[in-house]
Amino acid sequence: MRAVKLYGARDVRVEDVPMPTIREDGDAIVRLAAACVCGSDLWAYRGIDPITTPVTVGHEYCGVVQEVGPSVTSVRPGDFVVGSFFASDGTCEICRSGYPSGCVDRRGMGEENCQAEYLRVPLADGTLVATPGMPDEDLVPHLLAASDVLGTGWFAAKAAGVGPGKTVAVVGDGAVGLLGVLAAKELGAERIIAMSRHEPRQKLAVEFGATDIVTERGDEGVARIRDLTDGLGVHSTLEAVGTQESMMQAIRSTRRGGHVGFVGVLHGVELPGRDLFFSHVHLHGGPAPVRAYLPDLIERIVSRRIRPGRVFDLELPFDQAAEAYAAMDERRAIKALLRF
Ligand SMILES: [Zn+2]
Repeated sequence: MRAVKLYGARDVRVEDVPMPTIREDGDAIVRLAAACVCGSDLWAYRGIDPITTPVTVGHEYCGVVQEVGPSVTSVRPGDFVVGSFFASDGTCEICRSGYPSGCVDRRGMGEENCQAEYLRVPLADGTLVATPGMPDEDLVPHLLAASDVLGTGWFAAKAAGVGPGKTVAVVGDGAVGLLGVLAAKELGAERIIAMSRHEPRQKLAVEFGATDIVTERGDEGVARIRDLTDGLGVHSTLEAVGTQESMMQAIRSTRRGGHVGFVGVLHGVELPGRDLFFSHVHLHGGPAPVRAYLPDLIERIVSRRIRPGRVFDLELPFDQAAEAYAAMDERRAIKALLRF
């Protein structure tokens, strides 16, 4: 089967690799319906997370179960399934408290080959959620989005305490930020301020429910948010970038007593303790517990209430994976979908 491998900075190759096999009793083998590139794959692609040997990339997936190990009971061959970027047992105390991405036995799906034709999913019972029946082909991008970017945007909104009547700011106009806008809208936010300076992304943010667009960044961005909120700042800020500037922009855009949900993987960020102390801001974030949201998200997708797959603005044949990475790296595409 074909799989994407990253050999070094900006060196993406599609090569033939052995088919995955059942290795543990709880495994499932899934034939993927499509593959995609995540913004977080770009950290390695750009050489910021250095690579010494060829590595598998990607961690988002949906598709049809081909085979299951002897202990698997919740899914069977022929089921269309969606899973999260962390496999989880679904039974430990952390899973049961709503944090499967913090499972005591969590397995990073980046270790498997998610940008490939077939995928081994460990802990299938705790990880995979089957759709009700075989979804129509046009739903595939939306279901694939649920695997990470939608679930992560959803967590950002939940962690930021978004709810009816809330004013929300979203820092970051990548796929996660844009789907954070969608999540905030679905969770009942009254006003949603998207921070973006790219016109196609602004348009999608508005389509997803943004009521205001702020193009400024840093101090100017914070000042603009305060202008829009009687000088107080927003109730809830979703941070979907992960840099020093974006984190500080998120914290400073939030009113005293407000909440920041941060889901951009932090790189080189140091929070000044004294500023944090006097901010009165709640901070909650980390790898999103996507698995906990999947039943709800799948229901919203198959009932055609939401269309999160709109973030895929580039679709390429699988063999052109290198171009998919380049397009996202150069911000020519929000998110790239790869078809087999
Ligand atoms: Zn667990």
